[in-house]
Amino acid sequence: MIVRKAEQEIAKQLAPVAGEDARLEATFLLRASGFHSPYQELTETDAEMLKPLIARRLTGEPLPYILGEWEFFGLPFEVNRNVLIPRPDTECLVEAAWKALSAERNEVLDLCCGSGCIGIALAVRGGARVTAVDISADALELTERNARRNGVSVRTVRSDFLDGVEGSFDMIVCNPPYLTKPEMDCRDAALRFEPELALYGGADGLAFYRRLAASWRRVLKPDGRMFLEIGMTQREDVSAMFPNAECIEDYGGRPRVIVVNGHD
Ligand code: GLN
Repeated sequence: MIVRKAEQEIAKQLAPVAGEDARLEATFLLRASGFHSPYQELTETDAEMLKPLIARRLTGEPLPYILGEWEFFGLPFEVNRNVLIPRPDTECLVEAAWKALSAERNEVLDLCCGSGCIGIALAVRGGARVTAVDISADALELTERNARRNGVSVRTVRSDFLDGVEGSFDMIVCNPPYLTKPEMDCRDAALRFEPELALYGGADGLAFYRRLAASWRRVLKPDGRMFLEIGMTQREDVSAMFPNAECIEDYGGRPRVIVVNGHD
């Protein structure tokens, strides 16, 4: 069977979980298995190799975990189930932070780094010198691999939030866990594959912003800036915790990033 035909058949199988993305997902699965050209022949053995991947997808497991990699800010990142899948929503945070970088202001703290995608994107695209922090040793290992893969180096620190972080930074970037208890309880099937540690922000989703409000001044330079991703209903609550807070909307028009402008 040729790749084009296999693509159609896989898309049909994936339709119940992937909906209108089924064809695209079929293409991704084939490409990840080395089949790029539409007229390439697939043998029986090739088709057999694809079966377990399709079966995983049919359990609802998101495609990036099955592929083991995903693109963010135009860069490739290895991903696994220890970290959140990088989302286009978060590119809005990277873009805002990237605009604020300069040769003199490039010491960046990426707090709750997960795959490292935010800090690494800023290092690659903006020359940031990045310290990446996470409570998960698995996440930090992945961040180190992703940094190497993208040709940059980042310093990694294992710490429960800011507790073990020393230093003084020009910028803090952070996509903390911010889902509420009700959001966790009725989360989509796909989110159930992602680590609770990276999603759950306490009963009202705001626990990490409160911790940050109590400790950010210690690690941010007085004229530094902080960029925090928020959930779409958290704009008011999070803005109220910090002085000089502004909100940036994502490309879907949802409040997405709180920018805190220094504390001098
Ligand atoms: N943006 C993610 C979602 O809604 C949540 C990420 C997070 O908690 N930081 O699926």
